[in-house]
Amino acid sequence: MSTPAPIVGRTATSIAEVVESGLCIGCGLCEALSGGSLSMSLAEHGAMRPAPVDGFGPGQEAAVLAACPGVVAPGRGVGDAIWGPASLLAMAWSGEPDVRHRAATGGVLTALGRHLLATDQVSFVLHVGPDPDAPMRSRWVMSETPEDVLANAGSRYGPTAPLAGLQVAVERNEPFAVIAKPCDIGAVAMRARADEGLRTNLVATMAMVCGGQSRLSKSQAVLDDFGLTEDQLQLFRYRGYGNPGATRIETAAGTAHEKSYLEMWEDESGWDLDARCTICPDALGEMADVAAADAWPGGAPTGEDDGFNAIAVRSEAGRALVNAAVESGHLVLGEEMTAREFDHLQPHQERKKVALRARFEGRATAGLPTIATPGLRLDECAEGLDPERADAERAGTERRAGQGRYSEVAVRLEPGPSTDF
Ligand SMILES: Cc1cc2nc3c(=O)[nH]c(=O)nc-3n(C[C@H](O)[C@H](O)[C@H](O)COP(=O)(O)OP(=O)(O)OC[C@H]3O[C@@H](n4cnc5c(N)ncnc54)[C@H](O)[C@@H]3O)c2cc1C
Ligand code: SF4
Ligand code: SF4
Repeated sequence: MSTPAPIVGRTATSIAEVVESGLCIGCGLCEALSGGSLSMSLAEHGAMRPAPVDGFGPGQEAAVLAACPGVVAPGRGVGDAIWGPASLLAMAWSGEPDVRHRAATGGVLTALGRHLLATDQVSFVLHVGPDPDAPMRSRWVMSETPEDVLANAGSRYGPTAPLAGLQVAVERNEPFAVIAKPCDIGAVAMRARADEGLRTNLVATMAMVCGGQSRLSKSQAVLDDFGLTEDQLQLFRYRGYGNPGATRIETAAGTAHEKSYLEMWEDESGWDLDARCTICPDALGEMADVAAADAWPGGAPTGEDDGFNAIAVRSEAGRALVNAAVESGHLVLGEEMTAREFDHLQPHQERKKVALRARFEGRATAGLPTIATPGLRLDECAEGLDPERADAERAGTERRAGQGRYSEVAVRLEPGPSTDF
């Protein structure tokens, strides 16, 4: 499949270039499609990256490039410029109080995964959860029971590579669902175009609306604040057990430490987000059947509540899934909303989306690759940005590129060309 043209500039022509120009989000597809010749590993700056980036066998790199989120982010074309298509925008939460309490927000994603397993529509759900041997870190999992899905509920803010498990999932040749970030789900959608086994077995995809993935340095900073080391940990929960719930750390020695959500977010610059997140063309889960978000007026919590998601149902399959989950009692639907009411719950997403085209132009002027965005309406979104701010966004991105803020050093089999931009 040829890669659709980007709206601005050009796309990367190798996975090395994706990584070196700050476009890799560490989704794990590289590992899945390399047949074991490379793997996702934690880079020095605390993000997951494929290594070695030039370790692919014949044909493998082209297959990855056709679906890599650092090359292409697909959309559905139609719908609200910002939020895309949605046959239903509404409040929702899990119908099971324990799930609602333990999950990140209102438990919608867990509820849908549990429903699919409880009704035998899927054999497993591919998603992520805490690594039992290193609870600050995350690993991909195939949850085979509703209890497994709940055990892996909650948002994992550090690096995750859910698609490292995609090929294993496809090779099982059984119906399955995927819960992941919008960039991961976009890659699944692109990969499905080339992989009949994936198309045949993929029953549903669910995404969380996403403000960005932090590097492990954010988690390490939390440990440092408590004077702890990673080998002491027994639990590292980023949120949940309430909405939003505290970040909670427990040690093997039996001590417990907490930071509230607002304490965690006090200094947003300390979140150390991956570079791709600053130019993420789709953080709203456009290719998922159902996307679930937080639902705090103005975008931030003012305290704890019972857990309410805002959901966008994006496909017929998503609508059927939501209806059936309501009927089985796994899901509760609340009030319907408009796209403009969604903006009010997610003002940071709206601000980012209107600025994207200008940021892409800044990268292109600096000679860096951008991302193809077929069907994401970025030109239409850009109409919401006044010319002065567009200039500032363009210049700011170009300046950061000049400072090397998007440059990374990739691990190679052979020494590569200079990564100075
Ligand atoms: C990095 C990150 C940033 C976010 N930023 C925002 C934001 O700006 N605005 C907003 O409204 N919401 C944001 N969220 C989403 C929010 O935290 C909830 O995930 C969402 O509201 C769904 O809630 P839930 O109760 O249905 O999730 P749950 O029922 O708890 O299910 C969460 C599911 O997501 C999977 N998961 C968790 N972390 C990851 C990850 N890093 N990568 C892939 N899969 C994962 C889990 O395996 C689980 O299946 C973010 C989430 C993450 C992980
Ligand atoms: S974003 Fe995914 S597919 Fe692209 S380079 Fe990174 S790990 Fe590979
Ligand atoms: S902001 Fe975009 S690129 Fe970053 S983790 Fe979220 S969906 Fe992926």
